[in-house]
Amino acid sequence: MSSSEPLIPQAKSFLVQKFAKIPLGSIHVIGYSVAGEETVIQVPELDVCFDIGRAPYFALTSNILCISHGHMDHIAGISYYLSQRHFQGMKPGTILVPAEIAKFVDEVLRGWRNIERQKTPYTLVPMEPGQVYEVRRDFVIRAMETHHAGASLGYALVSVREKLKAEYHGILGPELAAMKKRGIEIQYKIEVPLVTYLGDTSFGPVFQNPDVINAEVLLTECTFYEKDHKQRAKVGRHLHVDQFAEILPTLKNQHIVVLHVSRRTGIRKARHFLRKRVGDELMKKVQFLMDFDGSVEGGDIEEAGPPQGDNAD
Ligand SMILES: [Zn+2]
Repeated sequence: MSSSEPLIPQAKSFLVQKFAKIPLGSIHVIGYSVAGEETVIQVPELDVCFDIGRAPYFALTSNILCISHGHMDHIAGISYYLSQRHFQGMKPGTILVPAEIAKFVDEVLRGWRNIERQKTPYTLVPMEPGQVYEVRRDFVIRAMETHHAGASLGYALVSVREKLKAEYHGILGPELAAMKKRGIEIQYKIEVPLVTYLGDTSFGPVFQNPDVINAEVLLTECTFYEKDHKQRAKVGRHLHVDQFAEILPTLKNQHIVVLHVSRRTGIRKARHFLRKRVGDELMKKVQFLMDFDGSVEGGDIEEAGPPQGDNAD
């Protein structure tokens, strides 16, 4: 062995996990998403992480965590996320979680406080479909019902902008301030859904939700691609490419990122299946999160890894 060779071979290994980082206009999505294994998607500019997977290091920096549903591949790292943040002196994480499982998540977190003998702080926010969590006056998170396991939720990150009503244009600032003081509504609100994340979902009304159709960036699953996987999609309550191909033309998003592809189908094969169904033009706005642009690690993700089990994910 020459002295330049590393002591630990850096060859392809399950121990080396490669994360995606995709720039989309003014934001990035950083993450990892393989069906049944792990899903965690961060939007660092908005301080939000969708699902936590096994709590990879990058996800720790998000102050807000939005949990879509209770399957282990989406929620396993929740205690680690909180504990590590506390350990590293970061402020307590705020976790939005479907109300139906909030009590059980709380029990797990309390259990870990006892096991670790550490009073890890956290804020748990039970969410119902349609409920809005105000992060700031100009930034809210709205939950929506998805169609998966129990009360699964998607989340829209919504920018709230206040505009001056047309009839008050041309009036000077001090006068406007005085009117406002007298209780006159001089502004109206515009909501712009910036990023919407669906977690796991089957085909259903969620795809008619304005926050889904109009979000600048849509993060959606499409798990199955091959003809004989249709039944798997139905049983697991996931999308099959045939359904996604029907949905895609109705979406107005600038960018769509496909998540949660099954290991049963390689990521490039999956992209090929979708392209065949929807054509080149629509594919211009679609990216697959785990398509690492021909990098070696991308090959790893496609070909390596444990076989996909048949259980629900
Ligand atoms: Zn699931």
